[in-house]
Amino acid sequence: MKLLYEKSIPGRRGVQPCTHDVPVSINLSADLLRQEPAELPELSELDVIRHFTELARRNFGVDTNFYPLGSCTMKYNPKMAEACAALPGFADLHPLLPQLACGGMLTQGALQVLYETDLLLREITGMAAFTMQPMAGAHGELTGIMLMAAYHRRRGSKKTTILVPDSSHGTNPASAAIAGYEVVSIPSTEKGIMDVEAVKAVLHEGVAGLMLTCPNTLGLFNPHIKEICDLIHSVDGLVYYDGANLNAILGKVRPGDIGFDIVHLNLHKTFATPHGGGGPGAGPVGVAKKLVEYLPVSLVVKRDDGAYALDYDRPHSIGYIAPFYGNFGIILRAYAYIRMLGRQGLIRVAENAVLNANYIMHKLKDAFDLPYPRTCKHECVLSASRQKRENEVRALDIAKGLLDAGFHPPTIYFPLIVDEALMIEPTETESKETLDSFIAAMLELAQIAKTDPASLHNAPVTTPVSRLDETAAAKNVHVTADLAAKG
Ligand SMILES: *Cc1c(COP(=O)(O)O)cnc(C)c1O
Repeated sequence: MKLLYEKSIPGRRGVQPCTHDVPVSINLSADLLRQEPAELPELSELDVIRHFTELARRNFGVDTNFYPLGSCTMKYNPKMAEACAALPGFADLHPLLPQLACGGMLTQGALQVLYETDLLLREITGMAAFTMQPMAGAHGELTGIMLMAAYHRRRGSKKTTILVPDSSHGTNPASAAIAGYEVVSIPSTEKGIMDVEAVKAVLHEGVAGLMLTCPNTLGLFNPHIKEICDLIHSVDGLVYYDGANLNAILGKVRPGDIGFDIVHLNLHKTFATPHGGGGPGAGPVGVAKKLVEYLPVSLVVKRDDGAYALDYDRPHSIGYIAPFYGNFGIILRAYAYIRMLGRQGLIRVAENAVLNANYIMHKLKDAFDLPYPRTCKHECVLSASRQKRENEVRALDIAKGLLDAGFHPPTIYFPLIVDEALMIEPTETESKETLDSFIAAMLELAQIAKTDPASLHNAPVTTPVSRLDETAAAKNVHVTADLAAKG
C-alpha cells in the first residue's frame, strides 16, 4: 500500500473550510512563522477517506474477529459503555475544575462516579477501599508494592523479599524489583499450582509479601490459597492478588474473603474497555482495612452534607502516584458496565467465561497436548510440543496458521513453564458458533502439521505482511523510512 504522501497530486484539494470571522491575532515573532507552505500531501477528501478506511480494515480487533489472546481478556465491550464515556457532561470536563464549581453542577457527577465505582469494586472484591488512580495493571502493582513497603516501614519491620510463582505474569516480579525488593520465584507443582510446602520452603521473617493470580496463568484455581495466605500472614507478610483478569471469579469468590490484603483490577480487561495497543487503561487498587490509611492521595469522600470531595488530608498516604483522578473515562466505562450487568450479569460473565474455556479445552485436548488436565477457569493452556517433536511445527507456526484462518492467535510461549504453550482465553462474549469455527480451524492445523508442515512454516500468506521479525518490528520501528530515503 502506498503512503499518503506518495498518493499526493499537486493542486488536488479536499473540502475548503469556511473562512473564519474572528480577527487574526498573531503574537508570535516573525522568525517563528512559516515562510513557505507546509509540504503536506495534496489529496481529495475521498482519497483520504479511502486511504484510512483501507488502513483500518487491515487492523485486527474484537469488533472484526475472534481474539483468544490468553491473559489479555480481549472480550467484546458493549458500545453502551462507550456511549456513556462520550457523554459531553463527562467527556468535556476539565480536570482542574473546582470540586464545587457552579454549585457542584459541573464536577459532582464525576466525583460521584469515582466514589460509587469504589463502592462497587469493594463489593465485587471484598476489599475495604480502592484508589482509582493507577493507569494500568502494572501501575497498580507498583502502587500495591509501595503500599506494602509503607505498611512494613511504619511497623519498623525489616522486609526484603517478595515471593512470586514461576507461572507469574512478568509484570509481578518486575514491579517488586522496581520497588527495590529481592524477588524469589516459587516453583509450581506437577499439578501446575503453588503448594503449601513450596511456600514453607522459602518463607522467612524477611518476606514482605507474596504476589499471585488465582486462577493462575494456567487458568487453574489454587485449592490451597487460603492456607497460603495464612502462611504469609504468619510472618506478617502481605498477600497481593493480581486481579488483572477477574472474569473467572466475578460474583463467585472475593479475594478479600480469602484473605488477600491488596488487589489490583484491570478495568481494561474485565470491565468493558477495549484493550490492546498499549492503552489507555486503569488499574484500581483495593486494600484490606489495615492498609487504607496508606492509599494514595487524593481519595473521593462523601461529606456529611452529601457533597463529594477530594480528600488530601491523609498523613500516612504513600502520596501521589498519578495526576488528577486516574483515567476517568475508563473508570466511567467500568461503572456503566457494572451497573448495566448487575449482580446476576456479572455472575453469568464468570460462568460463561469458564464454560467457554473448558469447551475449547475438551474439544482440542486430543489434537494437542494438555500439560495440566484439570477443569480450568477463564483460560486453558495447550501445548504444541507433540507437533514440534513429530513434525517440527511449533506453537509459532500454529499461531501464524490461525491468522490465515481469520483468527487472532492465542498467547504463545507463555506461561514460561509450558513448552510450546498455546494460551487460549475465549472470554464469555463469544458464541458457540464462533468457538466451533475456531476449534475446527485448530483441528485442521493439527492435521496440516502432519500432512504438510512446510506450508505452516510459511504462514501467514493472506495477511498484508507475512512473517515478521517481531522483535525487530517492536524495537526498531521505522515509520518514516520511505520518506527519509526520498529525502
Ligand atoms: C495484563 C496483565 C497484567 C498487566 O496489566 P497492564 O495493564 O498491561 O500493565 C498483570 N497481570 C496479569 C495477570 C495480566 O494479565
